Amino acid sequence: MKNIQQTLVIIKPDGLKKSLTGNILTRLSETKLRIVGVKVVRVSKELAEKHYAHLKDKPFFEDVIKYIRGELHGTKYRRVMAIVYDGENAIEKVRELAGTTNPEEAEPTSIRGQYGRLTTCGLFENVVHCSANAPEAEHEIKLWFDPDEIVDEIYPVKEIDEKVKRRVWA
Ligand code: ADP
Repeated sequence: MKNIQQTLVIIKPDGLKKSLTGNILTRLSETKLRIVGVKVVRVSKELAEKHYAHLKDKPFFEDVIKYIRGELHGTKYRRVMAIVYDGENAIEKVRELAGTTNPEEAEPTSIRGQYGRLTTCGLFENVVHCSANAPEAEHEIKLWFDPDEIVDEIYPVKEIDEKVKRRVWA
């Protein structure tokens, strides 16, 4: 039986600043997984802290929050690209291509091996994030995307009635 999975990939601010979006998407297209959602996001402190909640006690927590929010890469790059991939063994396939967390230890031909670096303050600037396992992927995708931003129904949804103020084009 096929193991259909979803996974979240985030091209981090260093990836955007180094103009690597095309290269990274090309590498990821080798997997033949399908993109079911994509957007450019200005990451709020709240979203960053929720995304990295598991690192709260690490000495590099503050730096990693600054990093994902683009605060280490100048005002032009306060954004990331978030992409949801769907397909057979999606999590494993993307992690394999991304390489390990530390870019110096990553397989040299992996995305992190090719494009990542260790900053002078010791942070791993590793260009991409990708989900580690199935529960994490579901948690992250639901954190970053609303159901209407995903073209397939990958998780159950419900309808709620709520009055919200929203911006429209003037
Ligand atoms: P991954 O991104 O591979 O899932 P983690 O969730 O453990 O890894 O870490 C999140 C991010 O924090 C990493 O991608 C990297 O940018 C940074 N990071 C993780 N571990 C370290 C470390 N030991 N030293 C410096 N930066 C780290």
